[in-house]
Amino acid sequence: MQYKTMMTEGGTLVILPTTLINELEKQKQLNPRDMESGGIIIGKRRSSNMEVVAITTPQLKDKRSRCRFDRKEFGHATILGQYWNQSNGEDNYLGEWHTHPEDFPTPSPTDLSTWKAMSSEHGIPLLAVIIGRVKNYYTIVSRSQFYRLKEIA
Ligand SMILES: [Zn+2]
Repeated sequence: MQYKTMMTEGGTLVILPTTLINELEKQKQLNPRDMESGGIIIGKRRSSNMEVVAITTPQLKDKRSRCRFDRKEFGHATILGQYWNQSNGEDNYLGEWHTHPEDFPTPSPTDLSTWKAMSSEHGIPLLAVIIGRVKNYYTIVSRSQFYRLKEIA
């Protein structure tokens, strides 16, 4: 399997299989009428590093529009539970992803406050990803701080 490796300035590593990146990029909002898409990121934590194993895609009760994706627990929690069981608790919730109808996406004020709230609620760093039309945005959110991830390999 091929991977993309990303790192924060502080040295935290995130490993993402390219097959999953392709799956995320299939949700790009290339069409003017495409709605935002999103889901959760599932994977393993090894100290502060993360290895992404799976993602979920929009589920029945999520609220979607051109510039908004409001994820509900329904569906995503079930899929997470399946991964958790199959891996004896090694695969767990890592964070959130969604698309933006922008070439080079930047988080909206709502994104920033939602991620901060989720990170404090879970008490652990989260991986947050925005899929843009040209580039993607990757960051780790920890205690209200953002640590941008840069691709290294
Ligand atoms: Zn957003």
